[in-house]
Amino acid sequence: MAEVVALVGCKSPAQEAEYLQILSAAMPGERLVPFRRMTDAERASVQVAIVANPDPAEVAALPALVWVQSLWAGVEKLVGAFDRPLPIVRLVDREMARTMAEAVLAWTYYLQRDMPAYARQQRERVWQPHPYRKPADTMVGLLGLGALGTAAAERLIGAGFSVTGWSRTPKTVSGIETSHGADGLPAMLGRCDILVCLVPLTPETRGLVNAARLAALKDGAALINFARGPIVVTEDLIAALDAGDLSHAVLDVFDVEPLPAKSSLWTHPGVTVLPHISGPTDMDSAAATVAANLREYRSTGQPPQGVDAGRGY
Ligand code: NDP
Repeated sequence: MAEVVALVGCKSPAQEAEYLQILSAAMPGERLVPFRRMTDAERASVQVAIVANPDPAEVAALPALVWVQSLWAGVEKLVGAFDRPLPIVRLVDREMARTMAEAVLAWTYYLQRDMPAYARQQRERVWQPHPYRKPADTMVGLLGLGALGTAAAERLIGAGFSVTGWSRTPKTVSGIETSHGADGLPAMLGRCDILVCLVPLTPETRGLVNAARLAALKDGAALINFARGPIVVTEDLIAALDAGDLSHAVLDVFDVEPLPAKSSLWTHPGVTVLPHISGPTDMDSAAATVAANLREYRSTGQPPQGVDAGRGY
C-alpha cells in the first residue's frame, strides 16, 4: 500500500478536486489524501504534506511530518510557525517565473506608455498627448533578484528597458546594474522611474517601502508591488500618491486579501488593484516539480532543501 501524502489548504472543494487529480497523475505511486478526509491514524503517521496556502494549525496537526512542500512561492505564513524545525520547501518553478516576468513587463509597459493618465483623460474627455519616453530611458528597479526578480530582469532587458536590481547579498545578473544590502538601497532608489517589488515578506522586508524610500525615488516615479502587501506601508503609499510624488501604483498584493470593500485603495485614482494574479501557480508544471521532489525523497530519505528559517525565505 502506497504511503499517504497529505494535501492541506485548498480554498474550495473544486480546487481540492482539481489539485488531487493533477498531482495524483504526476505521482502515480503516491496516495494523496486531503487533510479533511484523513483518518486519525493517517494524520498521526503522515510524513509529507503538499500545501496550498494552508492554515498553519492544520499542518501542525500532523505530528510525524518530515517536510512540507508548498505549491506557492511565498511561504511567510509557515516559516517559524511550528514548535519544531520542519523543512518548508517553497515552489520554485520555471513556468511561474515566466508568468511573473510577463506580468512585470506588461505592467511596466502600462506605466511607461502613460496608460493611467490616458485612462483618466478618456473619462474626462481630454485630448492631450504626453511626451514619449523610450524603454532605454526608463529605469526599472527590481527589489529582489531571486527566481522571479531575475526572470523579470531578463524579460525587461529583452524589451530594451534599463534595469537595476537590489538583493540582500551581492548578485551578478548579465546586463543590469546590481546593488545589495541597506547601504546599496538609497542610490538605487534615486535612479528608478518604476520600482518593482519582488522580495519575500520577512521581518527585514516588512515595511521596507515606506515614506522615506518612496521619497527617494525619482519625482513622479511609479510602483509595482507583486510580492506581498505588508512590504509596502499603505498609508505612506497613499500620502506619496496624494502629494504627487508618486504617479501611480499597481498593486497585486495587500495586507488583507481579498482587499476589503471599504479599502480606499479600490477607488484611489492613482492605484490599479489586481486580485493577486501576477504569478499564479501553473498546476501542471508545479505538479511535475513536486513529483520530482517526492521521488528524490523516496529514493534517498532526504527531504529537499527548505527555506532558511533564520532569514525567513
Ligand atoms: P527568492 O527567494 O528566489 O528571491 C528573493 C530575493 O529577495 C533574493 O534576491 C533575495 O536576496 C532578496 N531579498 C530577500 N530579503 C532581502 C532583504 N532583506 N534585503 C534585500 N533583498 C532581499 O524568491 P522569488 O523570487 O521566488 O519570490 C519572491 C516573492 O514573490 C515570494 O516570496 C512571494 O512573496 C512573491 N510572489 C508573488 C506572487 C504573486 O502572484 N503576486 C507569485 C509568486 C511569488 P538574495 O539573492 O541575496 O538572497
